[in-house]
Amino acid sequence: SKVLITGGTGFVGSHIIQQLIDQGYEVLAAVRSQEKGKELCSHFNEKVSFGIVEDITAPGSFDNICKNGGTIDYVIHSASPFVYGHSDPEKEILQPAIQGSLEILRSVMKWAPSVKQVVLTSSLASMIGDASAQGVFKETHWNPITYEQSLQPENTYIGSKKLAEKKAWEFMSENPGAHFSLTTINPGLIFGPLILPVSSEESVNTSNQLLDELVRGQHTDKVPDAPVPAWVDIRDVALAHVRAIQFEAARDHRFILVNDIYTMDEVVEIMRRQFPILRGRLPEPQETPRAPIQFESSKSQKILGIKYHSLEDCVVTTTKSLMKKNGI
Ligand code: NDP
Repeated sequence: SKVLITGGTGFVGSHIIQQLIDQGYEVLAAVRSQEKGKELCSHFNEKVSFGIVEDITAPGSFDNICKNGGTIDYVIHSASPFVYGHSDPEKEILQPAIQGSLEILRSVMKWAPSVKQVVLTSSLASMIGDASAQGVFKETHWNPITYEQSLQPENTYIGSKKLAEKKAWEFMSENPGAHFSLTTINPGLIFGPLILPVSSEESVNTSNQLLDELVRGQHTDKVPDAPVPAWVDIRDVALAHVRAIQFEAARDHRFILVNDIYTMDEVVEIMRRQFPILRGRLPEPQETPRAPIQFESSKSQKILGIKYHSLEDCVVTTTKSLMKKNGI
């Protein structure tokens, strides 16, 4: 079967591609330029083909790739800006996230009648903030953040994810006769090894950034705060996307993907114990309490069959990859 994937040049998307290839799927990646497509294909030994979608916010942006992509069975939309700094919240973050998820659904609806299932990479950000959760988040919860509020820099990324996911579910309810169904994967902060080469020593995707800074000795004084209170291993996130296209029971569901809550002190403790060579670069961990918050991820275990990797395994695997990147 053939899978059209967006965001394949990113951290999450590249791991999804790897698992799709390993499981024998044909992969068609929508990328922003010829150069990025060629790099991606050569990294995956030409086992991936690509099509160019320069601007995912343009009306009909995915029409050509859907029209000319042959028989596409599944779509995984993981492209969305995950950066905290920006100068124009609408142009750089909100529009690509929101309009991008609408455009892909529109094009699939119009030009790809063979598609059975679309999987959208959403986020815990779509749930965190729902006061009715009272600190225990489930798939029924929705962050109440509005578009207006999302224009504030500290809210922009969170708002982009919630509004993009909302837009996708709205599209499905406005099109009850659609030939495909939707599943969303809502991960916490994702740690994991890098599988694509980085453009410079400093550059790493946002969710691995703190771990990278620790490995590089940039937090010797104090353990930094966790930017998101719950974490998950990239291998589990990628597998969840693949299972979401495979398992019919996953259709029409949202899935929280979280192993557990954590503190950065726990991460640092594992790094210090497992990698004595790094000790001089790392701060002393404290006994910091975990945030009083919970995430109900049993649905991902029951329906998608995810058996979560442990924090120990995840931190070790990620740290090895980051040490290699940093020449340690
Ligand atoms: P990366 O920055 O590593 O990858 C982002 C991907 O999205 C890249 O392929 C990038 O393409 C593409 N992209 C970003 N902006 C645009 C745009 N304006 N137009 C077209 N493509 C764009 O981030 P992640 O892999 O971590 O994120 C992937 C998805 O996972 C996102 O939807 C993110 O919100 C979600 N997510 C990530 C979490 C995490 O902890 N990492 C947690 C929860 C959700 P290019 O290479 O061309 O820039």
